[in-house]
Amino acid sequence: MDPVLAEIIADTRALVQRAANAKRGTLTTSPEVARMLAAVTTLPPAAPLIAETTRVDAPATHEGESALEILAKEVSTCTKCPLCEKRKQTVFGDGSPHAKLVFVGEAPGEEEDRQGKPFVGRAGHLLTDIIEKGIRIPRSEVYICNVIKCRPPENRDPLPAEKEQCEPYLLRQLELIKPNVIVALGRHAAHTLLRTDESISKLRGKWHFYHGIPLRVTFHPAYLLRNPEDKTKCWEDIKHVIKVYRGEETPAAS
Ligand code: SF4
Repeated sequence: MDPVLAEIIADTRALVQRAANAKRGTLTTSPEVARMLAAVTTLPPAAPLIAETTRVDAPATHEGESALEILAKEVSTCTKCPLCEKRKQTVFGDGSPHAKLVFVGEAPGEEEDRQGKPFVGRAGHLLTDIIEKGIRIPRSEVYICNVIKCRPPENRDPLPAEKEQCEPYLLRQLELIKPNVIVALGRHAAHTLLRTDESISKLRGKWHFYHGIPLRVTFHPAYLLRNPEDKTKCWEDIKHVIKVYRGEETPAAS
């Protein structure tokens, strides 16, 4: 399907969803709009941002609540995997819902679990420095989240089954925010978003694309705290991100 037509259909669907009566699942329209919607629904579906097999149903929009806030509420009561048992709270995400730049990390740590916000410990302070001193924008202008929304015990690596269960929430977040550029922090985020198991060293240094959105892989700030000699390499990655963020560079696949 023509990409422009696909985008128009996707936007129309989003508008209909927003306008629909969330409680009764009904929508009042004029006959003209009803005819237009009927025509739209007979067209082939646009390529989904999220694979149908892993998709979380789009949340209905209630008055005064954004789709992102409704999704956060849904996540807050999630019991799809055993990580729900020991969490203090879920850590959904933080920042602007209209962010042009999204950072995706791995999973909440102890401090994130306590505060309910991503990247608030030492690694979080380093990420804030990268954003505010490196990119020179307030942290509140970007969006930060993790692949996994609940803290794994003892900060162990998330298990494949846990990532599989939680991933649809991340993908839905990205679908709602629609950033211009994504930074995958560390291998768990990179592997989940890019469907690969290649090493960080092979994934760094080039542009990837996530459903058309440029994506750069760099080190997780927690790794950089343990390996400060690699901060220079991270800065090289971020310099490319800055150019795309500012519209000075149009990434090409390499
Ligand atoms: S980690 Fe994700 S899938 Fe597992 S319980 Fe938490 S929110 Fe649900």
